[in-house]
Amino acid sequence: MWFFRSPQIVFGPESLDYLTEIPAKRALIVTDFALVELGLVDLVTEKLHSAGVEYTIFAEVAGEPSLELVERCGEVARQFKPDMIIGLGGGSAMDTAKAVRVVYERPDLPVDGISPLEPLNLSPDIKLIAIPTTSGTGAEAGWAVVLTEKESSRKLILGSPEGMVDFALVDPIFTVNLPTAITRDTGIDALAHAIECYIGTWHNDFTDGMMVKATELVFEHLSRACADPGDAESREHMHNAATLAGLGLGNAQVGVCHSMAHSLGGSFPVPHGRLIGVCLPYVLDFMANGAPDRLADLAFHLGLSTGGEAKAARALVRAVRDLIEQIGHPTSLKQVGIPEAEFLERLDLIVENALQDASSFTSPRIPDADEMRQLLQCAYHGTPVAF
Ligand SMILES: [Zn+2]
Repeated sequence: MWFFRSPQIVFGPESLDYLTEIPAKRALIVTDFALVELGLVDLVTEKLHSAGVEYTIFAEVAGEPSLELVERCGEVARQFKPDMIIGLGGGSAMDTAKAVRVVYERPDLPVDGISPLEPLNLSPDIKLIAIPTTSGTGAEAGWAVVLTEKESSRKLILGSPEGMVDFALVDPIFTVNLPTAITRDTGIDALAHAIECYIGTWHNDFTDGMMVKATELVFEHLSRACADPGDAESREHMHNAATLAGLGLGNAQVGVCHSMAHSLGGSFPVPHGRLIGVCLPYVLDFMANGAPDRLADLAFHLGLSTGGEAKAARALVRAVRDLIEQIGHPTSLKQVGIPEAEFLERLDLIVENALQDASSFTSPRIPDADEMRQLLQCAYHGTPVAF
């Protein structure tokens, strides 16, 4: 028995208009102050205003969200008493909104206690809306929440299917003219979601087709969106690709590339997608060396190879590496600016946290501690993975 869970997804130009059709009286907007300054929050408040919905804005999400941030925003929610919670932004804002939607109604539950094993009994009268302003995290499509525990530098993967987003409004208007660095980081993250979900052991008939399409869309449109930030067609397709790949996150599972990025991100303040983009080719090489069949299958679907399994898996890894180089994404952790002394000093902890990360368990090939250490070192120095 398996489940396929999805919010109601409204996509394409003008999908933000649908916000006025969701019944609500009071809305809490959870966002990042940068989006207030860019005027993107105004696009949302104008809709709420026209629908006669009162609102308040919590614009304190900056960088990767912590347990404390959720507690603070939860307190705002309990005072304001919204019947609509809107996560507007990248994964951080949407994940914060998801966690706040739970702690708002369940103040008895510690934030890190939000898990699929904990019955939540949430009210259906409170609607959770996710509006992504980047094309990559896929946080709008699922229920998982990634939060940082400051004391241990760990990323906690929390969330409950009961806290699923009700409506995802996937409107490309938010991404037109997004800076290239953000387009690059988030676009490669979407690609990693699609590939890791496709090759992971929890892949299934429902997610497979979506992951093939998401991969194809990123290959077709990411470099165009990076080269011309105003290219509306590419922006729209990248936005859809990110949400498609995001459906993989909740319904299949990502893999070792995400374990590494979560663990590295707990130690170094580097955006998730940048770490993903660096680690992805090394992890895929490791998979191609020991578990090539699903990679090869994806390569066949994408028309990248007609050769044997090993050759096809290699063709896919090469296509990923070519795309990363073409869009000018860094190709080593050193290039990202992580100092070597600090990297080595924290390496034992990074290896340990990566091995414990839930994303590792569904990988088609699970590295042992020694292999994880070597993978991280290859990604640091930009050296090939020959094992
Ligand atoms: Zn990711």
